[in-house]
Amino acid sequence: MNRRAIVAANWKMNGSLALVNSMVSELNNVTLNENVEVVVCPSFPYLAAFSLASANANLAEAFSLGAQNLNEHAKGAFTGEISTSMLQEVGVSYVILGHSERRSIYNESSSLVAHKVKTALDAGLKPILCIGESEDERVAEKTETVLAAQLQPVIDEIGIERFTDVVIAYEPVWAIGTGKTASPEMAQATHQFIREFIAKVDENVAVKLPLLYGGSVNATNCEELFAQADIDGGLIGGASLKADEFKVICSAAKG
Ligand code: PEP
Repeated sequence: MNRRAIVAANWKMNGSLALVNSMVSELNNVTLNENVEVVVCPSFPYLAAFSLASANANLAEAFSLGAQNLNEHAKGAFTGEISTSMLQEVGVSYVILGHSERRSIYNESSSLVAHKVKTALDAGLKPILCIGESEDERVAEKTETVLAAQLQPVIDEIGIERFTDVVIAYEPVWAIGTGKTASPEMAQATHQFIREFIAKVDENVAVKLPLLYGGSVNATNCEELFAQADIDGGLIGGASLKADEFKVICSAAKG
């Protein structure tokens, strides 16, 4: 079956208003294959500007806006935090959750990530759930155990049926921002494991679930990665800040 494909841009703590405006006009010229969606996730201060610039430029429906995090509470005394309703008010429809930088630098546990996934879904936002193993875990052949331990709390929290509104991004931590990409074969084998893990709970959900690969994807390696049977696009960090490179990656995705 042809699953929808997604290319998501994680700007992390990079970018500027100038990049928002130039990226919107560049994306207006990109050619996407059928069944491909592009989600741009700038930092919080640029979300409203991206929404406005997209509306002014009449950016196609295939382009959506995503946030890089959310707070699991609806509102209140949580200084520095952002709620789902705030994100939705400025046009956000996706949210990256469980990124390895949030897990490692901000100590987000898999149970907190699961709770955030539920918060996003309850509000009508689509989570891009990031999972991935460290280099030591890969070397110790613990990749599958680690991925299962990151996925199971989410399945337990939301139930498998709600995975129809979830996107999973497999991002080996050792490949993020390092220039070391997983080989297409290694990425495919891990994606296949993730799909089979979900299929053991619900085959119908697994077959439709978009699984993105992330970790040093660029204009040169994207074609081969996206050609793999269980890779349905990518979560792109560094290369998403360069319009020329990001456009090549967007055009390489196939639904
Ligand atoms: C990321 O931060 O999610 C990522 C994949 O970064 P990069 O593409 O720079 O490795």
